[in-house]
Amino acid sequence: MKRVGIGYDIHRTAKGRRLMLGGVEIPHTAGLAGHSDADVLLHAVIDALLGAAALPDIGHYFPPSDPEIEGISSSVMLAKAVSEVQKAGWEIANVDTVLVAEAPKISPHRAAIRARVARLLHIPVDCVQVKGKTNEGLDAIGEGKAMAAHAVVLLMSKVQGPMSNVTE
Ligand code: MG
Repeated sequence: MKRVGIGYDIHRTAKGRRLMLGGVEIPHTAGLAGHSDADVLLHAVIDALLGAAALPDIGHYFPPSDPEIEGISSSVMLAKAVSEVQKAGWEIANVDTVLVAEAPKISPHRAAIRARVARLLHIPVDCVQVKGKTNEGLDAIGEGKAMAAHAVVLLMSKVQGPMSNVTE
């Protein structure tokens, strides 16, 4: 059996913060605002994973109101999502993502991000892709006030045959 999932996230840009994208710190003039490290790309991947397994979304596991998780690494959040998905009887086939940001360019960082995400998901690097798009100067993203990310994942059941015994 197979399942697909979609994830989306958006964060405002913020001066004086580190920019984390796909678990990699990217040198840039601004970072992203958020309760965690604000890794918009990983947050989209997390929701795609959880959604594919029909599990609750990222806010369920990591409520923004929880002071305990202030500044938490999104890599830790992703590890939790991977563990929940695996517990539900799924393995990850591939992940595809789009980062929508006017800057920085993703291409110089693509290899590092793919390698990092692949390691976090325990899948080969050729099962992970990240593309960068600008918003052509349009709206808040185009003005550099925010960055957004989209992710799609494919899950495969770990066992052959009906999933009825592993989805309960
Ligand atoms: Mg987020």
